[in-house]
Amino acid sequence: MTIYIVGHKNPDTDSICAAIAYADLKRKMGATEEISPARSGDINDETRFILNRFNTKDPVLLTDATGKKVILVDHSEPKQRPENMDKGEIVEVLDHHNINFVQATPILFHAEPAGSTSTIIARMYFEKGIELPKNIAGILLGAIISDTVIFKSPITTQEDKDIAEKLKPIAEINDLEKFGIDMFNAKSGWNEKTAEQIIKTDYKEYELGGKKIGIAQVETVDASELEPRKAEFLEIMKKRKEKGGLDTIMVLLTDIMKEGCLTFILSDSIDLIGKTFGKEIKENGMYLPGVLSRKKQIVPPLEKALS
Ligand code: MG
Ligand code: MG
Ligand code: MG
Repeated sequence: MTIYIVGHKNPDTDSICAAIAYADLKRKMGATEEISPARSGDINDETRFILNRFNTKDPVLLTDATGKKVILVDHSEPKQRPENMDKGEIVEVLDHHNINFVQATPILFHAEPAGSTSTIIARMYFEKGIELPKNIAGILLGAIISDTVIFKSPITTQEDKDIAEKLKPIAEINDLEKFGIDMFNAKSGWNEKTAEQIIKTDYKEYELGGKKIGIAQVETVDASELEPRKAEFLEIMKKRKEKGGLDTIMVLLTDIMKEGCLTFILSDSIDLIGKTFGKEIKENGMYLPGVLSRKKQIVPPLEKALS
């Protein structure tokens, strides 16, 4: 029976590239079952840039996990899994996020606070002495650069940098900063997209303190270009909030050059959220200087405040 390796819904570069690389590694480690990299959503422009650059095929689309054996990478959170995962079987988890996982049967569960899932996978290749092809090294490098925002995000570890240095010559990339900017630029052109399309690119839902929270993150090289479209964003956010029964919905327009987030917010707990970040929320907006990481700088303080 095929084992599918799949990242979270609205997959980012790490979710796609970790699935592809981990499948390659598993096969080379002599997996007895068929291993197939998968994705539970569309490939975004940034990931497309990486896959094209390194001539790598898309993972298969897995939208329904009914009856499927699955390895989760880059997430464990139930809300981020493929549809009907409860009607399939999770056989392993490899992740670097908050852990929200309960299962009756024992499985291999590997989570650590690395900057990306791809960092962990790259280390496994090196540790096990398994041949790392140029394209796999390239997509792993792309995912590390993406998740750590060119090592600017506070989630970055020394190991992310060390592993990236080792991947560079294999991937034949000389200038990581330039490679990173090209990659983030590939998903710019935000103004050709609707607010709905932009939000969908990187939207995650969480259950925090019994409340449903939706947070979109848009990584830009210039967040100010999206600022004038606030009303359009708020309209889409309102719809999503109502439809999903959310307590709070936030859109983080992350400026990777200025290193901060212009944030749009709709919330039933608006005062609490303003207090949590030490900001007065004006007209459903606030600016969060120094914030680049949703999972380290937004989700944990929210969870603490809402619990
Ligand atoms: Mg991810
Ligand atoms: Mg990741
Ligand atoms: Mg990201």
